[in-house]
Amino acid sequence: MEYSELVKVYEQLESTSKRLEKTRIIADFISRIRESDLSSVLLLLQGRVFPFWNEANIGVAAKLVVKAIHASTGLSTSQIEKEWKETGDLGITAQKCIARKKQATLFKGTLSVSKVFTNIRKLAEVGGIGSVDGKIQLISELLTSSSPEEGRYIVRTLMEDLRVGTGEGILRDAILWAFFSEELKISLKDGELEIEDRPKYNEYAGAVQRAYDLTNDFSLVTEICRKDGLKGLLGQSMIVGKPVKVMLALKAKNAQDGLDMVGMPAQAEYKLDGFRMQVHKHEKIIKLFTRRLEDVTKQFPDVVKAIEEGISAESCILDSEAVGYEIGTGKYLPFQNISQRIRRKYDIEEIAGKFPVELNIFDVIYLNGKSMLDMTFKERRKTLGKILKKKSKGAVIVKGITVKSADEIDKFFKEAIEKGTEGLMLKSFDSPYQPGARVGHMVKLKQTMENLDLAIIGAEWGEGKRASWLSSYTLACKDNGKLLEIGKVSTGLKEKEEEGLSFVEMTRILGPLVISEKGREVKVKAKIIIEVAYEEIQSSPTYNSGYALRFPRVVRLRTDEMDVEDISSLDYVEKLYNAQKS
Ligand code: AMP
Repeated sequence: MEYSELVKVYEQLESTSKRLEKTRIIADFISRIRESDLSSVLLLLQGRVFPFWNEANIGVAAKLVVKAIHASTGLSTSQIEKEWKETGDLGITAQKCIARKKQATLFKGTLSVSKVFTNIRKLAEVGGIGSVDGKIQLISELLTSSSPEEGRYIVRTLMEDLRVGTGEGILRDAILWAFFSEELKISLKDGELEIEDRPKYNEYAGAVQRAYDLTNDFSLVTEICRKDGLKGLLGQSMIVGKPVKVMLALKAKNAQDGLDMVGMPAQAEYKLDGFRMQVHKHEKIIKLFTRRLEDVTKQFPDVVKAIEEGISAESCILDSEAVGYEIGTGKYLPFQNISQRIRRKYDIEEIAGKFPVELNIFDVIYLNGKSMLDMTFKERRKTLGKILKKKSKGAVIVKGITVKSADEIDKFFKEAIEKGTEGLMLKSFDSPYQPGARVGHMVKLKQTMENLDLAIIGAEWGEGKRASWLSSYTLACKDNGKLLEIGKVSTGLKEKEEEGLSFVEMTRILGPLVISEKGREVKVKAKIIIEVAYEEIQSSPTYNSGYALRFPRVVRLRTDEMDVEDISSLDYVEKLYNAQKS
């Protein structure tokens, strides 16, 4: 398939903000593409060349793309950078630069989807000496034979910022419409979706969603729809090695509220302040995924070893929390202490020795070829006890007790806090495991509920000795898919890297995400989430959320634990604001 065909779809998607219209555009497209293009096109539609759970990443900085635009158009880098500053979008910059050049030469290239896909994928493999030149060559090879419009989307894909608005929900519905619109008798009339049989529609939509939650692979889901229809979707199970969406918890206000939610008796467990880890084991192969389903196997050889030694099952998928602890005392440490291990690419053994983690397993969802999702939590925990060999080091079952009253919960909560945890999780014994769902049969009880999880959408270069750091960060909460500013924070970070989360680290993280720059202020792609503490929420006309934080302070990075969709909502901020008034 020619890349220009896909570019037409991108343009159509970008020209509308209507969800149904976007879904229709993609559904039409999916139903007419060849099977051999399906897998790459489904990734490219999401602005990716690797599934997000694949450890490979494109890893191209904006400056390198500027050089590649220079190499393929002959325009000077300062001209390109000037254009970029004006548009704030490197994709549009590439488009304009190519257009200028193409006026002089006659454009004749035809770029295929597979060429674009392959070249961008290759970028992840290029390393070592000469890697910069190698990368520039791969990119400029594409840009030289692309039309201006194609250049725009190639660059946006490289920057992992496609901006055509194709979220997971839209892709799911598009697949549903592409394969089942006749069976479901659905049609679009005057921009409205008409569904003859709503229960049947929901059943099919649920089946597509379920297959996706279990495999996180739209290409695979599409193939199943094409070959085996609804039956195939319903029969799809987990695949060891492909991450499954984790089950999420609701919040309880207090012990009694928690018990009302999960029922009595219930399981109460330490809520450890580490990060979620999903363990996949198939004979000798072990893979580890974070809550965002990123592959972190290489970063945690100590956990791999603990699983090899501790788990007797031939194949299984386990849900757990990896928690840092102090060498010598064994005391649990806050997440921040081990956060650097997640992204670490070098000296892994050394850092594993310095910041060890203990895997606290709390669920098993797949065992020796069989799904355990529909079994009760009670049965799953019993099974877990059987497959974890007693003497294992580094992998244990999370501490928990059966509770029958709010008093018992309060007592156990106190103990948990003294042990350095965040509080408790309460779980109902009779419930299934629901991938991807935020459920009321697993609830969290935390000591403080007031810190906010906010996205960073902008930053400011510091002054004086802080001039090389992005040192003040603009924060946003969410409101119906929009991000609204709620203040700026610069307190809570360290000046020296070894002391904890530092300005240097934040600058390193935010640098590649910069979208535009104006004076000392930059706008960044909303990808980084931080937990923020503060003294008070004030109503304020300064920010478009209508609120501001008094004395905000960075507590920790949350990016490895949550997506931007999970940050604190304006509703929640409002609730805290009202609670504080009373
Ligand atoms: P939160 O991140 O505040 O929504 O709390 C939910 C998170 O707590 C889960 O995603 C896990 O990473 C973590 N957690 C810690 N201990 C447990 C436990 N015993 N059971 C389930 N989740 C736990």
